[in-house]
Amino acid sequence: MSNQLLFNAAELLRRPGSERRLSLQPTVVELGIADQRFDAGATVLVDLRLESLTDGIVVDGELRAPWADSCRRCLAAAAGQVVSEIHELYQQVVTDPDAFEIVGDQIDLVPMVRENLLLDAPLAPLCRADCAGLCPTCGIDLNTASCDCAAVVVDPRWDALSQLKTNLPEQ
Ligand SMILES: [Zn+2]
Ligand SMILES: [Zn+2]
Repeated sequence: MSNQLLFNAAELLRRPGSERRLSLQPTVVELGIADQRFDAGATVLVDLRLESLTDGIVVDGELRAPWADSCRRCLAAAAGQVVSEIHELYQQVVTDPDAFEIVGDQIDLVPMVRENLLLDAPLAPLCRADCAGLCPTCGIDLNTASCDCAAVVVDPRWDALSQLKTNLPEQ
């Protein structure tokens, strides 16, 4: 499998200030991503602008990839799209600690794309922002049902408040 994300930058490096646009659609597996949040066959939209400097190439653009997981609160299916804004630097002689290396005029976009997607994928995915989750006592899904557990288990914060009340002098 040829790596469509391996870009020969010789031309760009010869003329600082020149630029090149890249629109690529690698699959998750082509990026070497093995992560349960990303389907191996899913397509990643890679839209980049490469601009050469005197000592490297600036890569700007955007990545988009679908993710799917189970909701951290209720365990139902959760899905969405990762959108990564890209601002990266590639250098032949790496002087910037955050820069990626240009090896033999070749820019390998794979590690950079992979790193950004994994960084921006949700760590605690939710089926929706206001998911009510499962009851910690009986396990019922509070999005679709209710239980009486909350009435029995007193929230410690309210407990402190009722303590305070009893300590107050009678009006
Ligand atoms: Zn949920
Ligand atoms: Zn309950």
